[in-house]
Amino acid sequence: MTMSSNETIAAIATPPGTGGIGIIRISGPEAENIMKKVFRPSGREIDSYQSHQMVYGRLAEGDETIDECMAVLMRAPRSYTREDVAEIHVHGGYHILNRALSVCLKQGARLAEAGEFTRRAFLNGRIDLSQAEAVMDLISSKGEQERKAAIRQLNGGAASFVRTFSDQLYLLQAGLAACIDYPEEISEEEGANALRDGLESLTRQLEDAIDEHSSRLIHQGLRVALIGRPNVGKSSLLNALLGEERAIVTDVPGTTRDTIQGEMMLNGFRVILTDTAGIHETNDPVEKIGVERSEKTMSEADVSLLLIDASVPMDESDHDLLIRFNRAGAVVLNKSDLPPLITEDDIRSIRPDAELLTVSAMHKDSLKTITGYLSRFVRISDRVTLTQPRHLEAARRAVSHLKDALKTIDTYSPDVCATDLQAAQAALSEITGDNADEKLLDTVFSTFCVGK
Ligand code: GDP
Repeated sequence: MTMSSNETIAAIATPPGTGGIGIIRISGPEAENIMKKVFRPSGREIDSYQSHQMVYGRLAEGDETIDECMAVLMRAPRSYTREDVAEIHVHGGYHILNRALSVCLKQGARLAEAGEFTRRAFLNGRIDLSQAEAVMDLISSKGEQERKAAIRQLNGGAASFVRTFSDQLYLLQAGLAACIDYPEEISEEEGANALRDGLESLTRQLEDAIDEHSSRLIHQGLRVALIGRPNVGKSSLLNALLGEERAIVTDVPGTTRDTIQGEMMLNGFRVILTDTAGIHETNDPVEKIGVERSEKTMSEADVSLLLIDASVPMDESDHDLLIRFNRAGAVVLNKSDLPPLITEDDIRSIRPDAELLTVSAMHKDSLKTITGYLSRFVRISDRVTLTQPRHLEAARRAVSHLKDALKTIDTYSPDVCATDLQAAQAALSEITGDNADEKLLDTVFSTFCVGK
């Protein structure tokens, strides 16, 4: 994609649908002119608009009034893109907005590409690439923790970590260059030791910053699988936790044959609950698919809850499941409102190590036991800096280059080491987008929405 910021771009900045207001955003050298051509201020002519001041008037094409509106001009560089930006606030309706946009396009604006406003903010140096991505994360955040992570990144959290780290890496590179250039002044051993210490410390720092667990929690949520033989109450528990009827509940064993998912929020994180078909030996082909799917769900889940119906005697499949259950999670004794035929001691005699929760899907209060248990898994450190999958991937590559550099010390090949350090530096700079090529920018901004 080639783009020139000599062009003035325009787009509808508000989502499709109806609402009180809808906004057309225009950015580029012609923004003010286009606004003047399509906007008629109420009462008086305005030769020169004051920056950042809303003016009431109407949007018009020729003699025809299209809508009543407010308009504002934000002169460069005090704008989102650092270019002249005009915004026209019309009524929020699909047709009005499209008409308003087409009027602006007729006056010389070009329709903006997805993410092009933010791309310009990046190209004009107002924000770095990690901050640009944070804008999109902020818009798409579904919970408090996702929002907080996006705001930290927008405020430069990831960028400042990368910059500080890069500075330290540059010092190391400079030290290495000195060793290469002045071999008579710095002994081989002295140089190698300093380099080894520096590299080890940097590798540790970067590895600490690569927090896959927190990143997954923030962006994907905690995946919880409900497993157990048919009729133990998995669907009932899922519905009770979600507070809605998502899964069909019946007293016919094997009713829940497909996996059913639902989402709830816990401590500001998303928790994705998956209700699986009962895991048990079966010859019924339809059921068998369900069983395979259950095992897959369990292996993909962060936490599994193995449900046992405590109101009936333990059967062989409960027993098998208890033995097979070897993942992070707890054994849930359900139906505690009924007289118990299975006790916690019975479970412990089979699985002394198991975490045990006793609940009734019929009693909302007892669900706190489950949410309390799950809360343990939805915590992240407040120091978490890199959370974006793209950033983690770049940081992982940087770590591997640093490790390659470490290996070269023993063989004393400073030139190879220098190349590895440069590669680490380059991988890191992808996070902030310094020297980013068009391809990287296209990849990042293609995920944006138009108008942002
Ligand atoms: P699933 O096959 O494991 O999904 O089980 P269901 O959720 O469909 O429940 C099977 C039957 O057990 C239904 O009749 C539910 O109403 C009943 N049930 C589920 N949980 C409880 C509970 O905690 N107490 C009582 N008394 N009945 C329950």
